[in-house]
Amino acid sequence: TALHHPHHIVLLPFLAHGHLSPFLALARQIKHTSKAFTITIATTALNLKYLHQSTDHGDDILFAELPFSHHDRQSTENLAISKIPDLCHESLSLQSPFRQLIRDIIAKDGLPPLCIISDVFFGWAIDVANSLGTLNFTFTTGGAYGTMAYISLWLHLPHRQTDSSDFALPGFPERCRFCRGKLNSYLRSADGDDPWSRFMQPQISLSLKSHGWLCNTVEEIEPLGIKLLRDYIHRPVWSIGGSSSLSKKNTYTGKEVNICSNKLEKWLDEQEPGSVIYVSFGSQNTIGSSQMIELAKGLERSRKPFVWVVRPPLGYNIKGEFRSEWLPKGFEQRMTEAKQGLVVRDWAPQLKILSHKSTGVFVSHCGWNSIMESLSHGVPIVGWPLGAEQVYNSKMLREEMGVSVELASGVDSIVYEEEVLKVIDIAMDGNGKGGEMRKNASLIKEQIIDANNIREDGKVRGSSVKALEDFLTHVLTMTSKEEIQ
Ligand code: UDP
Repeated sequence: TALHHPHHIVLLPFLAHGHLSPFLALARQIKHTSKAFTITIATTALNLKYLHQSTDHGDDILFAELPFSHHDRQSTENLAISKIPDLCHESLSLQSPFRQLIRDIIAKDGLPPLCIISDVFFGWAIDVANSLGTLNFTFTTGGAYGTMAYISLWLHLPHRQTDSSDFALPGFPERCRFCRGKLNSYLRSADGDDPWSRFMQPQISLSLKSHGWLCNTVEEIEPLGIKLLRDYIHRPVWSIGGSSSLSKKNTYTGKEVNICSNKLEKWLDEQEPGSVIYVSFGSQNTIGSSQMIELAKGLERSRKPFVWVVRPPLGYNIKGEFRSEWLPKGFEQRMTEAKQGLVVRDWAPQLKILSHKSTGVFVSHCGWNSIMESLSHGVPIVGWPLGAEQVYNSKMLREEMGVSVELASGVDSIVYEEEVLKVIDIAMDGNGKGGEMRKNASLIKEQIIDANNIREDGKVRGSSVKALEDFLTHVLTMTSKEEIQ
């Protein structure tokens, strides 16, 4: 009976850094809610290696390796965008080892796990769940608005039905018209029969049939997105996000930080509160070489302090050595001598930077983790979306939250130093629009903190904490009902 249930929950993240880390955070949150749950995260060897590097025994999380024959393609991280559909299609082969894993758990526990929580892109998990007598829930590691835009675009391809430069997106109010020119090129050319659509459409459709969705957002900060998602999927949606971005420690890195922590902290400590511009494009993106030069010139001319995470520009091995010739002549030396900027290669401790009082604005690709980390610390955003659902995140940050201005969109955008300078000035201006953005970001910060608040007396619980408790209660109730039947 339910009383003797081992309370096993199996998590199945997609094979990308930006997905692994919220899944790990979710595992920790469930453990934090009640130690009675056993959590297994199932993924491929490379991704397990990353997860191992960021957990310890104290986390008490189990890991299961899913054998995957495509050794060189286990993560989107080192893949050119054109290769991502291959990885997606190959990932379908995980279904068989995953099914075996659930069978092994059943043999060991004596009954099926409570549920499988799978990524939106692994909709096939519902078939495994249905056939082996467990429940399936979907976890979107993105925000509600961005997720909703992305799934609606893939499922309806509305831009294919019109020639106009903007179009309405099914599920969205008319006022949120979307711009054709901002669509990623692979989405713009998708016709339902291309490799992207042939993966996305069935997987998303299957996920829409799961028993409910968890969303990596906070109810209060995304009222529109959450409402749209609920109306569209007709399933319960629990907003459980924010806890990991509030800490100072990145939940998952699997990366080497290329700057001495003391040096960085000392440098940040020396700057005025709210004066530093932090520039980074997430875990797997970079920009074009002329964009890089113009960005450098604009930063230099702004005379404002900055920390910039640089990677080789597009067309070069993103994991390779960074060459100073990719920056304007003498740039790094001038910046160091003038103490204006720190150029960090490949990877920086992002949460440490965003949580430092000196950081004033984040020039970001608008990946959802970066957004949550920035807003959790009240830092407004200069958007430069590059891929995935980032364009829609950026639109939401501007139109719904009022915490952002956009500097550029996509890797093909032509960027001039004057524009960089202008946008930085707007964002850093304490009064006008910049002041407004900062004020809005501070309010959102409070909402994220409140949503994750657990008062000592256990009485006041924030919405994210409560949503996770409600979700777990819901699963336990559903399971015990099924057991009685
Ligand atoms: N990140 C970091 N240091 C870096 C770049 C990125 O710690 O130099 C972390 C960042 O804190 C965030 C994640 O990598 O948690 C990036 O996730 P996001 O969803 O923003 O973008 P993605 O990498 O999925 O495009």
